[in-house]
Amino acid sequence: MQCTKCDKRKALTEYSFKNEEEKIYYLYCDSCRNESQQTQKKYKEKAMENYNLNKTINKIECSCGITYVSYRNFHMIRHINSKKHKQSLEIKIKI
Ligand SMILES: [Zn+2]
Ligand SMILES: [Zn+2]
Repeated sequence: MQCTKCDKRKALTEYSFKNEEEKIYYLYCDSCRNESQQTQKKYKEKAMENYNLNKTINKIECSCGITYVSYRNFHMIRHINSKKHKQSLEIKIKI
């Protein structure tokens, strides 16, 4: 069977079943499938790393005393309109 990814002809033993009952094989050979799974995994890990990094970079310390994470403007707007923010500011003003 020819792998649709590396275009090499390989024995069926180098392929896995997509559906074992119906004897349907994956179109990618096992090594190509591994490779693409690894790439996907790396991509996900990288995305997670970026996500965690953003979380620390985008910490905003508001004048109300609350520190919150903001990735987008709407997070900031949402915080400023939140009860928490308004109440904390009121308390501060009274003091
Ligand atoms: Zn292949
Ligand atoms: Zn605030």
